[in-house]
Amino acid sequence: MRDYDILVIGSGPGGQKAAIAAAKLGRRAAVVDRADSLGGVSLHTGTIPSKTLREAVLYLTGINQRDMYGQSYRLKDDITIGDLTSRTEHVVGREVDVIRSQLSRNRVAHLPGTGRFLDEHTVAVRDASGQDRAVTADFVVIATGTRPARPASVEFDDRTVLDSDSVLRMERVPRSMVIVGAGVIGMEYASMFAALGSKVTVVEQREGMLGFCDAEVVEALRYHLRDLAVTFRFGETVAAVERHERGTLTVLASGKKIAADAVMYSAGRQGLTEGLDLEKAGLSADGRGRIAVDADYRTAVPHIYAVGDVIGFPALAATSMEQGRTAAYHAFGEPVHGLQDLQPIGIYTIPEISFVGRTEDELTDALVPFEVGVSRYRELARGQIIGDAHGMLKLLVSPGDRKLLGVHCFGTGATELIHIGHAVMGCGGTVDYLVDAVFNYPTLAESYKVAALDVTNKIRQIDRLGD
Ligand SMILES: Cc1cc2nc3c(=O)[nH]c(=O)nc-3n(C[C@H](O)[C@H](O)[C@H](O)COP(=O)(O)OP(=O)(O)OC[C@H]3O[C@@H](n4cnc5c(N)ncnc54)[C@H](O)[C@@H]3O)c2cc1C
Repeated sequence: MRDYDILVIGSGPGGQKAAIAAAKLGRRAAVVDRADSLGGVSLHTGTIPSKTLREAVLYLTGINQRDMYGQSYRLKDDITIGDLTSRTEHVVGREVDVIRSQLSRNRVAHLPGTGRFLDEHTVAVRDASGQDRAVTADFVVIATGTRPARPASVEFDDRTVLDSDSVLRMERVPRSMVIVGAGVIGMEYASMFAALGSKVTVVEQREGMLGFCDAEVVEALRYHLRDLAVTFRFGETVAAVERHERGTLTVLASGKKIAADAVMYSAGRQGLTEGLDLEKAGLSADGRGRIAVDADYRTAVPHIYAVGDVIGFPALAATSMEQGRTAAYHAFGEPVHGLQDLQPIGIYTIPEISFVGRTEDELTDALVPFEVGVSRYRELARGQIIGDAHGMLKLLVSPGDRKLLGVHCFGTGATELIHIGHAVMGCGGTVDYLVDAVFNYPTLAESYKVAALDVTNKIRQIDRLGD
């Protein structure tokens, strides 16, 4: 008999959920990861610290209260890195405890160290003292995640030239900052530094940002960030980053030079597979360190699964968890439905963005007719109470069967609110449910009713003209 029924390499969201799901099915499960990495990138350098930092920024800068109390309102004038990181350390510490307790309650063994394959059923676990121990398992799940990709031409010193890991260890809030890459992570950090009062320049080689989101929402974000003194350099590439005694100089291919206290690169991520000795298990990774899997998260070797960021898109904690659970269920013959096509997206910029379903542009390109219903927070009592004058919710509705085709939200609570639309869409509901439902008052959730009334009024008007 092998040591475990399932051995998971990596304790991020995907690995944790795979191991716990297997344990809940009565299987012997173990997770390999370094003791100080328990919880993965998600807990130590990704989702949780960045979202906690954002919460600290919102609270200390008082930025969301300024419509109410004036543009000079701040909870604290001189915000230090210590003010920001103390909250992060507190939350990360608590979350590590929660994970440790969940693993032990479910009798999932934590094998501290790093794993690499010896053969397709055996993993060598190297502990902190350098000792190797061979562990065997019927099934193996690779959930080793990613690290930030660093262009070879740029010299990172993790003090003034940073990536999304080292930005969490900055010594002071920079007065000015260049962010290279206007993807989700880049824009989340651009928002935070702008809210803190840093003068931010975003450099992006594409002609715009967040192209997969609703164009109107992205425009609204851009407007807000410009208002916080963010400069956008779209369609530009970085030729060189120079480090000088008194700051950095980012030289663009167009010849422009940008002086700033710090530069943060957010230029994609690289799968953490190089140390796994994949070939000993009969596996390989692509140039970006990613492992190919089938619809059940099985690799080319059927008893070895891979989940989370190491398999690539969408590379979210949210989906990694589901992939982990699904892989474990599949391994042990438990019925699984597979991941739903309808995946919500949450982007924690300031203000935040969330959506589910399709965008106006996608529907137009696919020649799918739709009607739009919009609700603006400033027209809601709750919007006035919280002082959010810019938030909005947009419903895209099929005029034929009145089903929701997409929901797009911008502003306070967007990432929570989206799940109302997500549930209605997932259950095949129509816009009429939202028209007829009574919502708590005063809430932001009420925006669904307002937008539903807006869109159904438009559809009625069109139907009447056609009669
Ligand atoms: C700045 C930032 C913000 C983000 N914000 C969000 C967000 O708001 N919402 C969201 O859903 N997602 C967010 N993400 C993405 C999210 O963090 C990842 O999708 C998620 O962490 C991936 O989980 P995973 O299971 O692949 O493992 P990871 O969290 O990547 O962890 C992998 C673990 O494997 C371990 N490991 C690697 N190699 C070995 C080895 N050989 N042996 C043993 N262990 C090994 C590592 O030490 C690590 O602990 C963010 C990411 C970043 C970087």
